[in-house]
Amino acid sequence: MYTDSHCHPENKRFDPDRPDVFARANSAGVTTILAIGNGDGPGTGTFDCAIKLAEQYEGVYATVGIHPHEAALAKLDDFDELVQISKHPKIVAWGEIGLDYYYDHSPRDVQQRVFIRQMELAADARLPIIIHCRPSDNSTNAWDDTLRLISEHWSSTGLAGVMHCFTGTVEQAKASLDLGFIVSFAGNISYPKAQNIRDAAAIVPLDRMFIETDSPYLAPVPHRGKRNEPAFLVETAQRLAEVRATSVENIAALTTQNFNRLFMLE
Ligand SMILES: [Zn+2]
Ligand SMILES: [Zn+2]
Repeated sequence: MYTDSHCHPENKRFDPDRPDVFARANSAGVTTILAIGNGDGPGTGTFDCAIKLAEQYEGVYATVGIHPHEAALAKLDDFDELVQISKHPKIVAWGEIGLDYYYDHSPRDVQQRVFIRQMELAADARLPIIIHCRPSDNSTNAWDDTLRLISEHWSSTGLAGVMHCFTGTVEQAKASLDLGFIVSFAGNISYPKAQNIRDAAAIVPLDRMFIETDSPYLAPVPHRGKRNEPAFLVETAQRLAEVRATSVENIAALTTQNFNRLFMLE
């Protein structure tokens, strides 16, 4: 049984066939799915998008949070709304939150403030955090700030976290592990140019990793360029199994165990 630790099933690209997408995931053995609840961002009334799906589909859990892309839209009321939604029994984490200096859709100082505020709220809610971190090209800027802000504002909580869709270096993977974080690998581990991701995947302990699709984005080879969906998690697990010289069944079992342990589902 596989666990897709991060996807966006509320995305409009699934509107035509969402029940089929969940059915295909089940048929492929992807029986646990974490739906990320950023929605369309502050002011759109969509922070509960993941909860709605978690209530409707078995094996689906939910998060809530403001993505760094939309940090500049966040108002005080939005944080109150997040706190209310975070109390729902299907919410197992706060996220995705963090820093994106690649797109810079929100000013960096605002991204940092909204990230810190959400770490404080997640700590109050006793929820682990799901981190999105993307530096600008040929830079470690977002990594440096993300790792620093986590150590300043999160480590003292004793709570866990996940580096989602890890695209960093071996050093950044080690720094994430040192902070007590899980490192999650997505379909881009299968891309020919992504040797840095495979290098990181080679050193992360098997009891400290997740796998995810981040669907509808980042479809693994051989689906690259198409809409991604949770059923395609199997290809990512296969690629990770090759990197670790183990079986795909072992990767599936271990990453599912890790997920259940982190979110106390069993
Ligand atoms: Zn992300
Ligand atoms: Zn995502």
